[in-house]
Amino acid sequence: MVYSSFDPSADFARCLDQEDQLYHYREEFYVHGNLIYLDGNSLGLLSRRAEQALLKTLDDWKMHAIDGWLQGEQPWFYLTEKLGEMLAPLVGAQPDEVIVTASTTVNLHQLVATFYQPKGKRTKILADELTFPSDIYALESQLRLRGYNPHEHLILAKSRDGRFIQEEDVIDLMTDEIALIILPTILYRSGQLLDVERLTAEAHRRGILVGFDACHSAGAVPHFFHQWDVDFAFWCTYKYLNSGPGGAGALYVNRKHFNRLPGMAGWFGSRKDRQFDLELDFTPAENAGSLQMATPHVFSMAPLLGSLEMFKEAGINNVRRKSLELTQYMMDLIKHEVQGMGFAIGNPREDYRRGGHVSLEHKEAARICRALKENGVVPDFRAPNLIRLAPVALYTSFLDVWDAVQKLKRIMVEKQHEKFENKRDVIA
Ligand SMILES: *Cc1c(COP(=O)(O)O)cnc(C)c1O
Repeated sequence: MVYSSFDPSADFARCLDQEDQLYHYREEFYVHGNLIYLDGNSLGLLSRRAEQALLKTLDDWKMHAIDGWLQGEQPWFYLTEKLGEMLAPLVGAQPDEVIVTASTTVNLHQLVATFYQPKGKRTKILADELTFPSDIYALESQLRLRGYNPHEHLILAKSRDGRFIQEEDVIDLMTDEIALIILPTILYRSGQLLDVERLTAEAHRRGILVGFDACHSAGAVPHFFHQWDVDFAFWCTYKYLNSGPGGAGALYVNRKHFNRLPGMAGWFGSRKDRQFDLELDFTPAENAGSLQMATPHVFSMAPLLGSLEMFKEAGINNVRRKSLELTQYMMDLIKHEVQGMGFAIGNPREDYRRGGHVSLEHKEAARICRALKENGVVPDFRAPNLIRLAPVALYTSFLDVWDAVQKLKRIMVEKQHEKFENKRDVIA
């Protein structure tokens, strides 16, 4: 931790900023006026480098037209592999084990189509009840496609308290009827970081394949997917990786699975040198690229070229260290400033189990979020009672955190939230 004893003063926050080696990255992001943006776990901010990369790509289209696929600084034909290589160190993968393609839910469909191979009595899929609903919808529909009833074939590990999932409870459900396990690295509500290494080892001991949804950890928490022998993983890039709204997704496939045929094949999964032979026999790429289906969304990927350059410079371990400091500091301030006002901290306190956001519970969360927004703080509301606050290592300062908690305190003391209805917007 940066500090050994907590001090609630603004000067203390300024000191922490002065000691922060990543402070200067803040200048590279578009942070408007005095806005305190704590929603980077839903949509990260635009950086100048991401903007430049996108403009450069537009320029390549302007200059090269069709030849942009093979010409220009970053030929589009090799863009998804290039971005995979750049992402690999953030998740502990080898360069050809990661590809940028499609989007998260589509990639989950592709991975389940590829890795779910029910055999004998091993026909079920194991997930957890706190996972992101889209993952459940995808798993249920994949089961239906294979003729299985999701009510019987999708097993969901239960939470004991509505916040966390105990690894033991998941392991207890790893029976010889389970063919495949899909779990989040980090739960999107409580921000709990699961023990990916242990869960993978336990699954493999029982002959089960396991994949992870890393949407809430990619760009915030380092992983060692290859070393841990994780079979596959998938994540989005528009949250902590700042690729912009609808930015393309990414996936990891352990190289031991490179010989698997994609469950849903398309010509962009071909070996690069064979793709334009346009033969009717599919020759899959011998790497994660085989799971690509179609022409890449180049403009939804280009910003990543700039954004990932920053992660390379800053180092994911430094990003993680600062992120833990920011969330620890935020929790300390919350305890000090708004105790007794009906808040509960709903995320794990321990560094090894905590993701990138603080999950603040309050029965009037919806209207408190509205009041925060009115005060220039952007939180993220999750029904029915969650205020997610994500201070992001590359652009949130300690003084921002201090300021946000002061504003929260003022809202509660002055009952500013009571003028709003306690319900969510269409998008929350
Ligand atoms: C954000 C998020 C998604 C989003 O999926 P899309 O297909 O990109 O819309 C999926 N899973 C988790 C855990 C997420 O946090």
